[in-house]
Amino acid sequence: MLITRLVLSSAFVLLQISKKRRSLSPPPDIIIFTDGSVKSSPPRSTCAIFIPVLNCSKSWLLSQGSGIFTAELYGILKALETIYALDQLPPCIHIFSDSSSAIKALSSPKSPTHSCISEIKNLLNCLLSSGTKTVIYWIPSHSGITGNEIADNLASDESDPPSRSLIENTLSTGELISSSKHSWGKSLLAHLHNCKKPCVQMRAKPGLILWHHSKDRATSTCLHRLRNDHNHLNAFSHRIDQDADPSCRLGCPAIESTKHVLIDCPTHHAHRLNLIRFFNLNCLPLNPQTLLGLDPSISPKTQFKINNLLSSYLSKTGLRFIA
Ligand SMILES: [Zn+2]
Repeated sequence: MLITRLVLSSAFVLLQISKKRRSLSPPPDIIIFTDGSVKSSPPRSTCAIFIPVLNCSKSWLLSQGSGIFTAELYGILKALETIYALDQLPPCIHIFSDSSSAIKALSSPKSPTHSCISEIKNLLNCLLSSGTKTVIYWIPSHSGITGNEIADNLASDESDPPSRSLIENTLSTGELISSSKHSWGKSLLAHLHNCKKPCVQMRAKPGLILWHHSKDRATSTCLHRLRNDHNHLNAFSHRIDQDADPSCRLGCPAIESTKHVLIDCPTHHAHRLNLIRFFNLNCLPLNPQTLLGLDPSISPKTQFKINNLLSSYLSKTGLRFIA
């Protein structure tokens, strides 16, 4: 207990000396690092500030749907608010941000389109009227600048619940549109997943799957038909009309299914060699799902290579006009 009191007492003395010194000489310039962060899962937008000389590390959680531009701007705004709340203002503050778009927007003479820009400009003027100049610098992110790394970590850590400090910011028009699009996409996907087809089930988000397409329109159409199993192959014709012959048109006794034309039909074996070689080399299972780009666990780079080889196969075999 005695030690604690002594420590407190000396801390008090130090504080007194410090205050005295402050009154004799102007406080030094203050350096601040700010950062913003947006994570998609779970969706959380955060901002943070780090002021080494004040030993100040703070972070905030923003309204859901806030973009990275907003998060970066709020980092700068919170830095200015923190300084403005000090008893004794410094002659100059130096803010370091890794957001060139935020700095560009702040230096633009055009009317602000984002409410946070107006708040920042207002606070910059208030600080200037009180004798504090503000300089904002751009620094590259993730390049080993300690202050930036600390601010980055603070913002990232704030992304993990629970959050202590909240900013209930109003979303900009762009953020509202993006947020609506996102929830519309999620509900559309949930509805589509009622369909049991593998080409729908494998989708994690709506929109184009780039490796599902080919430069050649006929090949793209053929790939689409093979994927959804509604095609011109005899197996499908037989499903529509029970009198139609389902066997391979090239003389095999087998059913002319997607698997048969892509993997089993002996007539196309020579054209299939490049595909077989690639699949063996990459230890991939040669089946219609993998061939048609329906296995989401395969990397996009490999999916594009498979798609190119399959497109070439469909072209050489003439299947792009048959299937
Ligand atoms: Zn055949």
